[in-house]
Amino acid sequence: MPGITGHPAVPANGEPADGQLAGAVPVGQQDGLTVPRYAGLATFARLPRLDDVPRYDVAVAGVPFDTGVTYRPGARFGPAHIRQASRLLRAYNPALDVEPFGVQQVVDAGDIPCNPFDIAAAIEQIEQAAGDLTAGGQRLVSLGGDHTIALPLLRAAVRRHGPVALVHFDAHLDTWPTYFGARYTHGSPFRRAAEEGLFVPGHSAHVGIRGSLYGREDLRDDAAMGFRVLSCDDIDDIGVPAAARQLLDQVGDHPVYLSIDIDVLDPAFAPATGTPETAGLNSRELMRLVRSFDGANLVGADIVEVAPAYDHAEITAVAAANLAYELICVLARSKP
Ligand code: MN
Ligand code: MN
Repeated sequence: MPGITGHPAVPANGEPADGQLAGAVPVGQQDGLTVPRYAGLATFARLPRLDDVPRYDVAVAGVPFDTGVTYRPGARFGPAHIRQASRLLRAYNPALDVEPFGVQQVVDAGDIPCNPFDIAAAIEQIEQAAGDLTAGGQRLVSLGGDHTIALPLLRAAVRRHGPVALVHFDAHLDTWPTYFGARYTHGSPFRRAAEEGLFVPGHSAHVGIRGSLYGREDLRDDAAMGFRVLSCDDIDDIGVPAAARQLLDQVGDHPVYLSIDIDVLDPAFAPATGTPETAGLNSRELMRLVRSFDGANLVGADIVEVAPAYDHAEITAVAAANLAYELICVLARSKP
């Protein structure tokens, strides 16, 4: 019998655990037919912790940092909230015909400790931890935290894979130069990424952009950095399948990094976020756009800006948990 809070070593294929097989057969989710899914400690999707298995292919890590926000704070509590809402996730994804926890070892790597008083120090901690977690070629799905964290996560991915095709889902461009004189905020990670040459100009995109800007120069500056903008109106006009095709064309053969700000969703589908903008994507549209990267060379991803204090009935966290699941499925399908 599994312990009350422990994680029984049940291989994802359902066969009994066997020490001899440790490392060969991925350890999957805690058996939801033995331990009810609402019971026990919350790891992402009831997966084993990093220390429970000898090796892993994909790590899910929380990045509880929100000192870079410009409006509502609270995304530091995002990782715990997403884990709680991920308990219902199951082993098989029919949309992509894959068992994401059966063909690769996925673990919950816990939270990266981040200094809440020193943004520069936190950025260093995140870059270091992301580098360590992927040092053996593993891939990382990060749960934020505010969007500041995308910069160190990108740096770590680029150190390993070279400049990436960056596909950024967000209501906002996040390429502003500074805020109150600060260079490292959740509104500027991709300006810094452009300055550091982290993404491939002409093969990167913002998806789901909408809402008011400071001025026309915001769009002009952004285009000069090499981003394509696929706005919510664009997606409404051409439809999700055509938008997905255009994004795949845009990234080409480059390694792809997906950064998903949950505020790309309409506040009806993601009320719990720091800078909500009306008239966004619905969760079905976003899910299909993410899923369309099936077959692309996805090297890493993050989901950011879930701020639980503004949530209702776990609406936002359920969306974020399922997006993370789809990302892990895409990773399973493009396993190196
Ligand atoms: Mn945003
Ligand atoms: Mn953002």
